[in-house]
Amino acid sequence: MDPSISQLAEWINHSNRTVILTGAGLSTESGIPDFRSPGGIWDRYNPEDFDYRNFMTRESAREKYWQMATEMYRTLKPAQPNPAHLAIAELERLGKLDAVITQNIDGLHLKAGNSKEMVIEIHGSALSVTCQGCGQVYDRDEIQRRLQEGLKVPYCDACGKPLKPSTISFGQAMPERETREAFRRASLADLFMVIGSSLVVHPAAALPGEAKRHKARLVIINRDPTPIDQLADLILRGQAGSIMAAVIEEVKKGQSA
Ligand code: NAD
Repeated sequence: MDPSISQLAEWINHSNRTVILTGAGLSTESGIPDFRSPGGIWDRYNPEDFDYRNFMTRESAREKYWQMATEMYRTLKPAQPNPAHLAIAELERLGKLDAVITQNIDGLHLKAGNSKEMVIEIHGSALSVTCQGCGQVYDRDEIQRRLQEGLKVPYCDACGKPLKPSTISFGQAMPERETREAFRRASLADLFMVIGSSLVVHPAAALPGEAKRHKARLVIINRDPTPIDQLADLILRGQAGSIMAAVIEEVKKGQSA
């Protein structure tokens, strides 16, 4: 057994508040590409195409946005949780999780069995659509059906303003309640784990520092190095699925010992 795995399992079993931050790397083993690895979205699209101001001011930008969003949704909708999501759901069942803060918009923590109260989606969810005028929320499948029937840009039935997936675009304000809650949970954590995030997207990238300032242990599980590796108490380099599957086994052994 890799000593880092046993060490992490022991820390989890002794922790009163374990908070986990997850990023796109958690879902690559579910078939959803991350953004920054080769072949990711930034190899194919210009980040400006996702800019909120462009979306709100230009019909052509909205049309392009919905083309890209539809392409991504085809991959995202059928995706199933992988062993890393399942291990995090198991931590909740074992009473060993305080919160999971996710940058992901794929809904896979909920599909894996984590409860709604446990999951803080700081970048929103692609499984619903929100009116940018009155805030009315629509089911994503319903809107995708309209697009499939030939509509290029969907508008709100109630107020006529543009509809956009309920995710946070560049230039769009972060959701206030979720962001505040994420920082609060990070500040209260005694163990803060980052899984599958490049830790370059803010404000999520500031959460580990917030946890550390309040004396939490910091663990980073990621395939590639991150800019804050030097802050970590433990780094596990590799695939999140196999690492988390091994960690959860050790946690359970520790609990039954
Ligand atoms: P990122 O794309 O910047 O980085 C992903 C990180 O995960 C990389 O450092 C990579 O080394 C690592 N990684 C990839 N596969 C891994 C694996 N199997 N095991 C362990 N590590 C692995 O991702 P980010 O930091 O989350 O930021 C990207 C932004 O894009 C986020 O804000 C998120 O909202 C969005 N996004 C979401 C999804 C999703 O919902 N699944 C997918 C792509 C992008």
